[in-house]
Amino acid sequence: KHWSISDLLAGKVDADTTVTVKGWVRTRKDSKAGFSFINLHDGSCFDPIQIIAPAELDNYNSEILQATTGASMAVEGKLVASQGKGQSFEVQATAIEVLGLVDDPASYPIQPKPHTMEFLRTVAHLRPRTNAIGAVTRVQNCLAQAIHRFMHERQFYWIHTPLITASDCEGAGEMFRVSTLDQTHMPMTDKGEVDYSQDFFGKEAFLTVSGQLNVETYVSAMSKVYTFGPTFRAENSNTSRHLAEFWMVEPEIAFADLAQNADLAEDMLKYIFKAVLDERGDDLAFFNQRIDKTVIERLEGVVNSEFERMDYTEAVKILQNSGKKFEFPVEWGTDLQSEHERYLAEEKVGKPIVLMNYPKDIKAFYMRMNDDGKTVAAMDVLAPGIGEIIGGSQREERLDILDSRIDEMGLPKENYWWYRDLRRYGTVPHSGFGLGFERAVLYATGMKNIRDVIPFPRAAGTAEF
Ligand code: ATP
Ligand code: MG
Ligand code: MG
Ligand code: MG
Repeated sequence: KHWSISDLLAGKVDADTTVTVKGWVRTRKDSKAGFSFINLHDGSCFDPIQIIAPAELDNYNSEILQATTGASMAVEGKLVASQGKGQSFEVQATAIEVLGLVDDPASYPIQPKPHTMEFLRTVAHLRPRTNAIGAVTRVQNCLAQAIHRFMHERQFYWIHTPLITASDCEGAGEMFRVSTLDQTHMPMTDKGEVDYSQDFFGKEAFLTVSGQLNVETYVSAMSKVYTFGPTFRAENSNTSRHLAEFWMVEPEIAFADLAQNADLAEDMLKYIFKAVLDERGDDLAFFNQRIDKTVIERLEGVVNSEFERMDYTEAVKILQNSGKKFEFPVEWGTDLQSEHERYLAEEKVGKPIVLMNYPKDIKAFYMRMNDDGKTVAAMDVLAPGIGEIIGGSQREERLDILDSRIDEMGLPKENYWWYRDLRRYGTVPHSGFGLGFERAVLYATGMKNIRDVIPFPRAAGTAEF
């Protein structure tokens, strides 16, 4: 059995016990006094553990002195209280087995020095060995576990929604086609267009942009459900907060209106960011020092403050009277851009905002029509530093109004027959939202680009497959 470095540094093993640790060399320094100091990391926590390797070891010259940054080893030795500042324990090695040396150490891409995030994206297979990406990985894992815990405590059922679908739920035309057609013999219609009606399952098929329509079917029986899985959008913009493949957490609650939906979103964000504050202090200290000096303060702000609630109409007035020169001017009826969202959350209010009741024409067909006939019961949660991290709504549960929206938007009604059935058989008011998981990771880490908070980013121009 070997121990994780996290357990050893946390004092889970008594001093003077003989232990085995396994990991990768971060640095090695050789002292004239007859030993080497090796910093070994294994991903279990931010800090590496210091190994003291005496020159008396049999393989000291032949192997240990060849073990450069990135080499892997298994170390057996005595755990001792550390004399130096900072670290609690170190290991006095009695045997070291070098498992894998590094070919041509001078050209090993991950040197013990700061690398730019842009460079690290070109070596996505090696970048988890760095401090930054290791810390991101632990934080994102903490968030994912906290999401499932929160949902479980609130008695939500996790539903696996399909990734292959026929319906463009958001209506934004950003779907990737899934095709089984033979590219060299494409079936054509009379009009000379490709006949996709003969494609996958005998109809057009796409990768899902959101699991929402499917969670709505389950909420109409299970009362509280969520999906947490990958979604795909052929984003044609190249921004620091959009990916072509990203994960979404989508809770859906029956018998709930927009206000209850907003409360759920606020409670969930508080719960998951508190988990990061409680459990990942080591990684947060790094982010706060090296990436963004306000990240801890901002997380504490989310956990301890009440989110602002504001109507879209009021937000437009605030933006118009702000005296700021925005790249895109705002008028009632336009969708807000990241610059507007960030102004509202960062400069105007200084905490997250739940922005509600957007004009119907900039939102999807399924959102519930308000009595004014102009707005729908939509909500976005805007976070300082990022902008939108959640989009949600109360759903239209009245069949006649849903139908007129489907017609108004020119959507193929026959594709939504099952969705319409939910309104025909025991319809109930219901609401839900989608949290962009990587945007939550961005917020929790202070990282600046969404490509650096997902293991293998798929985005315009950067996919290093
Ligand atoms: P945006 O306005 O930023 O393009 P959206 O309004 O298109 O987002 P929604 O359809 O509301 O997004 O999706 C719900 C959530 O999913 C968003 O609030 C956001 O956190 C996340 N999200 C949307 N598109 C992307 C993307 N391309 N990459 C990463 N996360 C995304
Ligand atoms: Mg979008
Ligand atoms: Mg949006
Ligand atoms: Mg949205």
